Amino acid sequence: MIKQLTGFQSTGNLHLGNLLGAMRPLVEAQATADSIAMIADLHALTVEHDPAAVRANTLEVATLLLAAGVDPRRTALIANSQIPEHTELHYLLECVTGFGEAARMIQFKEKSASGAVRLSLLTYPVLMAADILVHGAEHVPVGNDQGQHLELARTIALRFNARYGETFTVPAGIRPESAARVMDLSDPTRKMSKSAPSPAGRIGLLDPPDRIRKTISRAVTDTIGVVRHDPEKQPGVTNLLEILAACTDEKPTGLTSYGALKREVTDAVVALLAPIQARFTELADDPGFVHQTLAEGKARVRPAALATVRRTRAAIGLLD
Ligand code: ATP
Ligand code: MG
Repeated sequence: MIKQLTGFQSTGNLHLGNLLGAMRPLVEAQATADSIAMIADLHALTVEHDPAAVRANTLEVATLLLAAGVDPRRTALIANSQIPEHTELHYLLECVTGFGEAARMIQFKEKSASGAVRLSLLTYPVLMAADILVHGAEHVPVGNDQGQHLELARTIALRFNARYGETFTVPAGIRPESAARVMDLSDPTRKMSKSAPSPAGRIGLLDPPDRIRKTISRAVTDTIGVVRHDPEKQPGVTNLLEILAACTDEKPTGLTSYGALKREVTDAVVALLAPIQARFTELADDPGFVHQTLAEGKARVRPAALATVRRTRAAIGLLD
């Protein structure tokens, strides 16, 4: 079975884009892949954060992944901070990565444009490489936003193997067939994002139906007035059509007004999220289960992670 790793930063509330673009494909792949679902809580420390909020977010993301159908019997659910081999490999990989390689990452440039920048923000793509390489992941589903970071992980793996001997599996970035790219509802030229400053364009997976209705009713459309799939001229309407198609697994037909489209999208999103929210509420009552699941995920993946680190240490010149 192909080894696959999907990562989620615990930087904020998961949204419809995360569900349709990453969580659902992960759940579907469970039948055919040996999957790891990783919460990147270490990555949440690269920017100013509230410790209690990070802890709460990590648990919330874990709980939502389980509520959305991640089956801990098939998928190892882990947090990268709980497996010390991630940070150990991170350091070793820093020793084969150029300063310039990290500094030219687009996301670093964007996020470092304002304010005080932590060193960890610069080296975070190297930690991401460690997250992937430590488990020997062969496939890494990534959206466009992570393409450059995945390329760096591949470069680091190839370089290390060439310089110090065959040590790492070189990962391939994949785009799952069922993945949808969900755009921001208030600015359909940008993707829906946890870290967007305004929540107006985002549907949180835990948003109540009323809030979802409100967010969708305010979604930006256009003045053309015809419901048509046209990403260039009608990005807002196209985004709504794509959300509807992804939620219902059908091509939408027979919609004649934006009002009708928004009502259909609202109903479809509310129906998709209802069972996830119900399961979330059940699981949230039993945080012990989520902690236990993370501990089991760690126990499952740790032997392979330890072996990778041991191999890397030996190859690069460290004592046992
Ligand atoms: P942040 O703004 O903090 O980067 P994010 O919303 O981009 O948050 P991530 O944790 O970076 O979320 O990504 C988790 C997974 O969800 C990744 O696989 C990513 O490609 C996917 N994803 C994120 N946003 C979208 C979106 N709008 N549509 C589809 N998939 C998305
Ligand atoms: Mg992102």
